Amino acid sequence: MKKTFSIISLGCPRNLTDSERLISEYEKKGYMFREEPDGSDIVLINTCAFIKDAKVESIDTILKVIEAKKNGSVKKIIVAGCLPQRYPVELKKELKEVDEFRGIVEFDPDPSKDLSARLTPPHYSYVKISEGCYNRCTYCVIPYLKGGYKSRKLESVIKEAEFLIKKGVKEVVLIGQDASMYGIDLYGKKGLSELLRKLSGVCGKNWLRLLYAHPSNLERDAIKAIRDSGNICKYIDLPVEHINDMILKRMGRKAGKDAILSLIKFIRKEIPGVAIRSSLIVGFPGETEKEFQELLSFMRDIRFERLGIFRYSREEGTPAHDFKAQVSEQEKERRFDEAMLLQQEISMGINEKLKGRVLKVLIDEKNEEQYIGRTEYDAPEVDGNVYVKGKGLKPGSFYDVRITDTYEYDLVGEAEKQS
Ligand code: SF4
Repeated sequence: MKKTFSIISLGCPRNLTDSERLISEYEKKGYMFREEPDGSDIVLINTCAFIKDAKVESIDTILKVIEAKKNGSVKKIIVAGCLPQRYPVELKKELKEVDEFRGIVEFDPDPSKDLSARLTPPHYSYVKISEGCYNRCTYCVIPYLKGGYKSRKLESVIKEAEFLIKKGVKEVVLIGQDASMYGIDLYGKKGLSELLRKLSGVCGKNWLRLLYAHPSNLERDAIKAIRDSGNICKYIDLPVEHINDMILKRMGRKAGKDAILSLIKFIRKEIPGVAIRSSLIVGFPGETEKEFQELLSFMRDIRFERLGIFRYSREEGTPAHDFKAQVSEQEKERRFDEAMLLQQEISMGINEKLKGRVLKVLIDEKNEEQYIGRTEYDAPEVDGNVYVKGKGLKPGSFYDVRITDTYEYDLVGEAEKQS
């Protein structure tokens, strides 16, 4: 009887693609993959250790699986990914019930394209184009865990996209730590715009989405490639983290206020109706009330269509950990709440303007009486949803949907026809 293997994938989509590779690795070792951890011979937990909340979630998950092992429903536990990569000694000492620790999945510039198991629904798939990072943001542990920048070979990415489209995938999502530096290590120059144009040719009527661009590295030509294509989502994921020059400098972010503002202006001019997603950190060491107010004014002026707000997480081993003027947890919470409230208002205002419009929606799933989908302005798992009324719609298909109602982050609509 084949031994069984299950995986719990935590953290970001980059970790998810690593988990998909781990499934292939264990299948090649003769294990049979199963979704459900309980009752599996091996349960592998692919962990995240980016910030405090992620570490807590990873530890909680490991402890749950240890309980399952104690009551006999799991035979062997393997803990992999960023947590053992970051704390190899501590974990070994503290978690004796874990049978094996392994670090992050080694990056392969030319992985086999036909990864057997995908952990996303069949109609969308993440494609990792690079690993590691050259930037040295002072609050971030990633470069210490993943190392310097490593690009996948252009042909390898194209082969994988062709394979996925042939398999019926409707949305290919490109990911990396900093996708905007793609190719710099392999080809000595940035190759993102060339990659986007080539992949746009591969994707046909299906969507191509780019995540994780960096404001100081994103080429204007890549923005033009998105502008000129009929199938690259008009969606720019551009984490800026802050807007005050002194804070940006202390964060080790090369793009200052003027550069960020002119880049956003350029994107909005070149791609009318584009959705810009960003992320901001509140409570970074040294952030005064005045600088926080500057951040709120920036949010009011720019009105990001999509925004993630994070409390600064003090991570040992990063330069910012030892910076003076650390902000109290209570004050971080207050700033986080104020910024979230403001973004809710902004997002509500943006969504209200979509009422009566017909938007192309990719249906992700059906639950009870309605369907749940996304527009090209919504990345999987992080942005809003469209709740669609209709009969016999097929998950994994595109429909023209007339928007009938709007909420802070979500929309409601009626399907008119398949598109
Ligand atoms: S760009 Fe900065 S925050 Fe992002 S992975 Fe690189 S070092 Fe970390």
